[in-house]
Amino acid sequence: MRSSEIRSTAKTEERIVEFDAALGIVLEQAGRLPQRPAEAVALSDSLGRVLADPVRADRDQPPFNRSTRDGFAVHTADTLSDAWLTVVGQVRAGERWSTALKPGEAVETMTGAPVPEGADAVVMVEHVERSSHEGRLAVQLTSGRTITAGENVVPQGSEARAGDLVLPAGTQMDGAAIALAAACGAVTVKVSARPRVSIIATGDELVDVTETPGPVQIRNSNSYGLAALVTATGGEARRLPVAPDRREELKARILQACDAEMLLLSGGVSMGEYDLVEEVLLSLGAEFLFTGVKMQPGKPLVFGWLPMRDGRAALPFFGLPGNPVSTQVTFACFVEPLLHAMRGAAPEGPRFAQATLANDVDGRTGLTRVLPARLDSNRIRPEVRLVVWQGSGDMAANARANCYAVLPPGTERFRAGDIVTVLLK
Ligand code: AMP
Ligand code: MG
Repeated sequence: MRSSEIRSTAKTEERIVEFDAALGIVLEQAGRLPQRPAEAVALSDSLGRVLADPVRADRDQPPFNRSTRDGFAVHTADTLSDAWLTVVGQVRAGERWSTALKPGEAVETMTGAPVPEGADAVVMVEHVERSSHEGRLAVQLTSGRTITAGENVVPQGSEARAGDLVLPAGTQMDGAAIALAAACGAVTVKVSARPRVSIIATGDELVDVTETPGPVQIRNSNSYGLAALVTATGGEARRLPVAPDRREELKARILQACDAEMLLLSGGVSMGEYDLVEEVLLSLGAEFLFTGVKMQPGKPLVFGWLPMRDGRAALPFFGLPGNPVSTQVTFACFVEPLLHAMRGAAPEGPRFAQATLANDVDGRTGLTRVLPARLDSNRIRPEVRLVVWQGSGDMAANARANCYAVLPPGTERFRAGDIVTVLLK
């Protein structure tokens, strides 16, 4: 026990909001972020980054009328009778057939090859009969098959015209986007700088992972978990030393963290006598957009902005509840969408999906529940089953979960078979 400091009387005005309202507030802020600095990176290093400049097609896509099948390029008019077509040659991907197709002729054409001039369709190799005419291969449509103009041909420029914008600024680079940029010859791409995020865990009971905790001490796991989540979301995490539950030291630590672009605090946001985070933020001029969310776990979450200081821009902060599952749940629901937008992407809520509930679950009137769960996707209709847990301190349960079941307020009991929302981890 230690003697308590003199309590400050400064209090934030309470603003406890519904889950959806909190998300709305975060996304509104996400839509008002200033433009980010940008840097050029090699295309091969761009995975997960967000484009600051668009990528344009440097030539038509496809660059020629492309065959999508192995088969025979024909004039469809020639196939209306049952005449045999003389196969005058073969064209492979990477080659071009140099002369125009004459009536009665066909050219064997491989997938990815340019369709010879004069041909308007490619008959699949599986859809022809073959015979020999004067020592040359001849083909005819298999009885009952028809072919229409354009079949199995992707016209030049139909995917994109030279100069067209194919990847707008704000695109998050994934495998599909990187492949498209590569097809357009983008050796480097301009991406937004990664947001720098400072992480401060608060609590007199906390020691670092490198230390041996005393009998009633707890390892600071939140800072490590949060840093991992920040990195996974495309931010640059900086873990600061733990801040004790003392006003002056907490304040000094926050000031030390202010060179970042987002501040994450964990712990110290509940109603206890040593929960000083809100009060200290307030003393630094913070504006609070909410001071609690009607959710479980995660209710004490606070969100707001610290004002400009020493020429540095205003700093968005989250005071996350200290219980480790609450910390991670509130990160997934609210911090991640803001961080996502801070990377230069268009504001977007969490990636909710839907699944069939496997077991009955109690709801909580008035609270949105966000519960550790496992999604079984072994079938097209995925099933979600809650993980057994001991409450919001149960990190082992959280580690077993691969998603959260998000259960809205106002339902007393959710039943097995109900369709519910899930948030993928
Ligand atoms: P608080 O939000 O500060 O009231 O903390 C709630 C619970 O979470 C307490 O049991 C704390 O010991 C625990 N806790 C707070 N911060 C951390 C942390 N950084 N790592 C692990 N547990 C924490
Ligand atoms: Mg605490």
